[in-house]
Amino acid sequence: MLNLVLFGPPGAGKGTQSQKLIDKYNLVHLSTGDILRSEIANQTALGLEAKKLMDQGHLVPDEVVIGMISSKLDNNKDAAGFIFDGFPRTTAQAEALDNLLKEKGTVVNMMVALDVDDEELTKRLLLRGKDSGRADDQDESIIRNRIEVYNKNTAPLKDYYSAQSKFYSIDGIGSIDEIFSRVCDTIDNNR
Ligand code: ADP
Repeated sequence: MLNLVLFGPPGAGKGTQSQKLIDKYNLVHLSTGDILRSEIANQTALGLEAKKLMDQGHLVPDEVVIGMISSKLDNNKDAAGFIFDGFPRTTAQAEALDNLLKEKGTVVNMMVALDVDDEELTKRLLLRGKDSGRADDQDESIIRNRIEVYNKNTAPLKDYYSAQSKFYSIDGIGSIDEIFSRVCDTIDNNR
């Protein structure tokens, strides 16, 4: 199995690169942001609760997203591997993911981080907000809050995977295809 954690701040391009990676490596894409947005669209109890937090740029509780990932893993028993996009976002989530994969007799192979500076991120997110209408992309103070949450809660995961020699950082500035080929080279050279 090939299990990749795609890592990077909001707006780094994780979703875009995931779409290309699932085709090339035949992986199942698990994006907690996408799953949560679909819960909101379906107006489930979980979605209604999550929406309040997401619209402010806060994280949804660990046990909620861990439960979502756990059931997606159970529903995809025959997958060749997974791309985790937007998960894990806290150390508790990373530990839970290790345990879930262990139960399946597999592991995270690598974390690939897309490196993009804050100014470029804000530019990209405001543009996405205009195009997609996503509430959390419309307002500069909410975007700043998400980048802060990332720096405080999520950035430490770099150390978590570095300690296991699984962390790879990639320059996330350039064309989509340029970045994709950097990601693929990293995967192919280290899997
Ligand atoms: P981004 O472009 O900010 O990375 P995502 O689509 O991954 O956006 O996530 C949007 C929002 O969904 C986050 O700001 C957060 O509120 C919630 N969310 C997504 N994944 C997680 C997670 N693993 N843990 C907690 N909250 C999450």
